[in-house]
Amino acid sequence: MEELLSCVSLSKEYNEAENSVTVLNKLNFAINRAEQVAIVGSSGSGKSTLLHLLGALDKPSEGEVLFEGKNIFEFSQRQQAQFRNQSLGFVYQFHHLLPEFNALENVAMPLMIGKVSIKDSNQRAMAMLEKVGLENRALHKPAELSGGERQRVAIARALVTEPKLILADEPTGNLDQKTGESIYQLLNDLRIHMQTSFVVVTHDIKLASRLDRSFNLVEGTLTTSDMSGF
Ligand code: ADP
Ligand code: MG
Repeated sequence: MEELLSCVSLSKEYNEAENSVTVLNKLNFAINRAEQVAIVGSSGSGKSTLLHLLGALDKPSEGEVLFEGKNIFEFSQRQQAQFRNQSLGFVYQFHHLLPEFNALENVAMPLMIGKVSIKDSNQRAMAMLEKVGLENRALHKPAELSGGERQRVAIARALVTEPKLILADEPTGNLDQKTGESIYQLLNDLRIHMQTSFVVVTHDIKLASRLDRSFNLVEGTLTTSDMSGF
């Protein structure tokens, strides 16, 4: 299996006044192409910090993150922006859609930022809205959609560039169980059809147990968690 991303001895400390907190401590991790990995851990254990580092949204205190063998912290600002726009998709607990734009415009945004023409951006955004079952909501603004619909729009936006890796921070955390289940089904369909890798931070043990591998983030490092009881 081909390795897509790995962390080598990744550490993150926050230093504020005289307080220093070690959140990640020499963490090692790797994910292959088309693999789905869950990360579970208690609140404050560093899950969001880890996802931010994997997406080059923050810098580690020490260690490396390699994407296709290249250290993402050695990229220039421009290369990092390109990496985030073209190779990654982010899904957050709260959808982070732009309220003044409709669903279609929100989904087309990463393509437009990537300098795809307006016509192609709209076409691809519409095709992605169809995949998540929201083609007839394309012209609705986020405030006119349900929580589950907004999260599906956010997933469509993350996937529209056909990224190699999706980083999802509690994507079903804010949804009822039934909607959470439909989001999981959607992620799985997309993985099968698009060979997308996922790192999913979740409190949902049932969701974690259905992914390829599951880890616990405890005391700054990842340990394999046994999900066989679920
Ligand atoms: P999780 O997502 O697992 O709930 P976080 O990664 O958000 O945890 O936070 C991990 C720890 O790091 C927490 O103790 C939090 O208070 C601390 N932390 C997060 N961001 C910062 C920051 N910018 N400055 C200082 N401490 C932070
Ligand atoms: Mg978090």
